[in-house]
This record gives sequence, C-alpha cells and structure tokens, in this order.
Amino acid sequence: MHQLAHMLSAMGIKRGDTVAVMDYDSHRYLECYFAIPMIGAVLHTINIRLAPEQILYTIDHAEDNFILAHTDFIPLLEQIKGRLDIEGFILLSDDETLPQTSLHVKGEYENLLAQQPTFFDFPDFDENTRATTFYTTGTTGLPKGVYFTHRQLVLHTLGVLATLGSAPKQGSFHQNDVYMPITPMFHVHAWGLPYVATMLGVKQVYPGRYIPDLLLELIDKEHVTFSHCVPTIMHMLFNSSKINEVSLRGWKVIIGGAALPKAMCQEALKRGIDMFTGYGMSETCPILSLAQLTPAMLELDDEAQSEIRIKTGRAMGLVEMHVVDEQMQPLPHDGKSTGEIVVRAPWLTGGYFKDQKNSELLWAGGYLHTGDVAHIDAKGYVKITDRVKDIIKVGGEWVSSLELEDILHQHASVKEVAVIGIGDEKWGERPLALVVLDPQKPSSEKELLLHAKEFIKKGIMAREGMLLKIVFVPTIEKTSVGKINKRALRALYM
Ligand code: AMP
Repeated sequence: MHQLAHMLSAMGIKRGDTVAVMDYDSHRYLECYFAIPMIGAVLHTINIRLAPEQILYTIDHAEDNFILAHTDFIPLLEQIKGRLDIEGFILLSDDETLPQTSLHVKGEYENLLAQQPTFFDFPDFDENTRATTFYTTGTTGLPKGVYFTHRQLVLHTLGVLATLGSAPKQGSFHQNDVYMPITPMFHVHAWGLPYVATMLGVKQVYPGRYIPDLLLELIDKEHVTFSHCVPTIMHMLFNSSKINEVSLRGWKVIIGGAALPKAMCQEALKRGIDMFTGYGMSETCPILSLAQLTPAMLELDDEAQSEIRIKTGRAMGLVEMHVVDEQMQPLPHDGKSTGEIVVRAPWLTGGYFKDQKNSELLWAGGYLHTGDVAHIDAKGYVKITDRVKDIIKVGGEWVSSLELEDILHQHASVKEVAVIGIGDEKWGERPLALVVLDPQKPSSEKELLLHAKEFIKKGIMAREGMLLKIVFVPTIEKTSVGKINKRALRALYM
C-alpha cells in the first residue's frame, strides 16, 4: 500500500485525480482499495463485464486520469484507445512476460512497486472527500455513477463489523476466519467486506477469475470460512463436478444481490454451510440488512430455519429502514402490508455523479428510495417480494415474481427460473415463468403447474398465481453482475 502510494505519486497522480482499476479479484485490487483513496485520489472500480462502449462511457464520465489494467483487457482498451483521454496505463499481469501493446504503458505493477520506498507519509484531509466511485447498470438508460466518501466507507466497515462481529454463533465474522470474496471487487467494493476483513486482520484469499472448480479447491486448500456471493454463483458451485470432493461444513456465506431461493438454502444447510441473506444495493455501500438467527432460532429444524435465512433480514445498527405506502407513510410491521423500502444510514451515496435529476428522485422526501417492494414483520425481519418495476399486477392484485420463482425452484426438475409479467387482455397482466430444466430430470408444464397449485392450496401463493404460463428455455439472460436480466426478458416476451 505504501509502495503503491509512492508509485502513483511518482506518476504525477495528485489529490482530486481519479485512478481506475480493471482487474479480477486480486491482492493488487485490495492494495488499490487503500492506497488510491489514501493519497486523496478517487478509486474508480471499472465493471469489466460491461461492453467496450459502456466502459468508455464510464471512464469519460468519471474523468479518469490513469488506468491500472490487467493484461487480459488490453485488446478491449486498444479498441477504444483513440477516444480515451488518459495520461497512461499500468499493466497488471499474472505472467512474467508482458504482451506487446500500442497503449501508453508506464510499466508493470509489481516491477514498478518493487522500486518504491516502503513507507509513505499519507496526508490528512477532510473525511468527506470522495474516495471511490463506480457505475450501476441494469436499470434503464446509461450507467449511473455512485460515489462514497472516506467517512462513509469507515462507518460502513464499522457498522458491518459490529453486526457480524457481535453475532454469538451463527452468521459471525471474527478473527479466526479466513475470508474469500466471490462477488467482484469492481461492484460496491465487494460488498465492503475486504475493508472489514482487513480491519479484523484475517487471512484473505483473492480468487482471480471465478472458475467454479478452482473456487471449491481454494475453499478447501486455504480453509476458507467466510464468503459472500449472488445466487447464480452459488448455483454454479453446487453444480460443479468437484462439489462432492470438498467438505464445505462450517463455511459461512452471505447470499445477496438477489433473493436466496429456499431450495438453495436447504441444500446448503444439508452440506453444513451457514448460508444467510444480506441485502443492499450499489447506492447503499451496500449492506443494509442481514438475516442472522438468534440462538433460539438455531434450535429450529432446517425447514423452519431456512424460512428465516431467506428473508431479506433485519436492518443493521445505524440503518433506519421503513416500508412505506405511496404517500411515504410507514406500513404496519405485520408481515403482510407491502410497500417500498426507503432508508437512511450514514453510508448511503449522496446521489448520482453529475446527475442532479436522478439524485433528487433517489432521495425524494429525505429518504433513499430502493425501488424494492417488501413487507416487515413484528420482529423486524424484512422480506422483499419484488422490484417496483418487476411487480406483476393480475386483475388488480399484486403477484410477487420472486415468490413464484421460489416456488418453482423447489421442484427438483427446475434448474433456473425467471418470472416476468406479460400483457393479458382479460387480466391486464399475467405471470410468465421461463424455466431451464435439469436435463437429467425431465418435466412438463402440467407437472410444474400442479406443483405451484400445492402452494396456492396451502395459502402460500395468491390464487392469481394460477394464471402462470410456463415456457421452457435453454438459458436465462443475466446482467453483467450475474443477476437475471428481467428488462431484457420483458423486451423479448412482452
Ligand atoms: P445492485 O445495485 O446491482 O447491487 O442491485 C441492488 C438490487 O438487488 C436491490 O435493489 C434489490 O432489488 C436486489 N437485491 C439485493 N439483495 C437482495 C436480496 N437479499 N433479496 C432480494 N433482492 C436483493
């Protein structure tokens, strides 16, 4: 970190500049998480899964001065270099030899670092200085830049540590853990947990590109005990050929970014994994709530425990979270009344970078609008039932696409599922499920509808859910961060 600060300063990087990183999850990225903001510059974590034109847009919009790029991204950068206003590049490499490039390269990261002194006298400055920035996608329009200050990052780190570190048994993160993120470091600082892990002083394992077999090998070899990922990645791990060769007993995993399917949680519990939900978004640094269990809840059987673990969780300390109606009035904590989640906390983004209009919409009425629809129960457990834009309105009644997905997921033949609303003359809208079947376990639309009907009989699903239509598909389109891309699916099927 000290050597990196020296190297950047020697390159002419100064306070207020923006330094971008394009890398897989690595120790170098962790060094950048600290050194770049600590010299007073802004760290821009580039989403390496975006299309070249979108990457170019974010580099321009963030006003990047310098880019630290893994050699794998040289072809992409060469494609857009004529339109890039950048002072230079530093290459990050996993090999000894560097590829030829026409980019204006100042050198290789480790070589440059090795020449630097090992102590840097970091300057003192206002804690409200911008420290990081990155771009959200998935919603309509161009990517939007969010940003976080030093103060926000520190308070988020302390808030998360207080919640995870004080857990008596389940869902804890402590000094004996070994940490490995499986959410990309370009996306909301890998949920802020590298900062928490560094503060705890634990061993950290950075896995590079996500290759399921390799991830499982690392968990086994390095004795990883604490991770976090989106359901899509966990699905890949559970389907890996190596899954039965390693013991995952005692591994603690926060699942977030999308609802944790009950079937996935049950499979995890069977394997001895402590799996539970975390919730947040790019705009919120990100963590807002965690579905930790009290010691009494841990006495429950797996079925009852998984019902709690798949909830969106309880707000962390310092997070003020409400479920409100359209007039912004808080709804009762009855586990039924459904409205939008709005929040305040000391670590939420001040707005979108250079975008006054959307910033005002985000913060309308003094609370950050998440766009997530949920209910909250008497114990304070929140349960997201949909995104505002994904809600399906059947004959005037709301049907939760997430609940329908969860129900279909519980059928053994269903490998992946996405539910969207499609136009219907009689009902206005009706739910359409796109289902990827497990090739080993064939099924039919009739069988899946009967399965869903069981949940309606038990009162778990509204009767309107019966208007479900099922289409079998080979794959389901995902966004750049591995979430189901409902916008693209709606465009295809509506
Ligand atoms: P992003 O900004 O890309 O991280 O996406 C944030 C969005 O992901 C949230 O607004 C939610 O819609 C969704 N999300 C995140 N965590 C959860 C969760 N635990 N359950 C359901 N949806 C989630």
